[in-house]
Amino acid sequence: MTREICGDVFLVGSSELTDSGDCMVYLVKLGEQAVLIDAGTGRATDPLLANVKRSGVEPQAISAIVLTHCHVDHIGGANEIRKRTGARVYAHEKDARAIEEALPDYTVERYYGMKLDPIPVDVQLAGEQGEFDFAPGLRWIHTPGHTPGSIAVVYKSPGGETVLFGQDIHGPFEPEFESNIDDWRISMKKLLAIEPDILCEGHFGIFKPAAAARRFIEQYLEHYA
Ligand SMILES: [Zn+2]
Ligand SMILES: [Zn+2]
Repeated sequence: MTREICGDVFLVGSSELTDSGDCMVYLVKLGEQAVLIDAGTGRATDPLLANVKRSGVEPQAISAIVLTHCHVDHIGGANEIRKRTGARVYAHEKDARAIEEALPDYTVERYYGMKLDPIPVDVQLAGEQGEFDFAPGLRWIHTPGHTPGSIAVVYKSPGGETVLFGQDIHGPFEPEFESNIDDWRISMKKLLAIEPDILCEGHFGIFKPAAAARRFIEQYLEHYA
């Protein structure tokens, strides 16, 4: 099972599609190559890659795995997918150590009853925002709050839609993995300013049109006001 979100964006993993612990894993086709946004827990990598194929993408065409932050439900499958496909792993430098050293308080592996091995991060993203080297035009934005190195990804579809991969917009916020609610509020304002037509969230689904995407973010800003 997969779900087409717009022309070249697919949902290939989620708690319903792959493993009960998995975040929502998205695939973006970029011509001959493709990028995976997050990687799930790793407990269902075979079904996840089968969904990639069903979306019309050979797993070997995945050139990058973008990890939006250091939690196990987003990163657990990254190393296996990296080995099988040759894709490079991208993460923000502020979460990179937690991922590369599999620091348990930061990966929250115990919430999932898992024991993570270290995951190599091939490319550390530094600063406030940028474009990915493999796909100019695909942007990342540093959105600290849930974790210090959380990022969002912004994709402009050929149809002209702005697709925002916001992932764990909803939190939660815990001192053990250095959440910061003040940083998070600023980050959410950055996401609102993008005015996405489609919001792909980390667990709660896909929100469109633009008013629904905006409402989802605003409702959490009100909740944590
Ligand atoms: Zn999550
Ligand atoms: Zn998370």
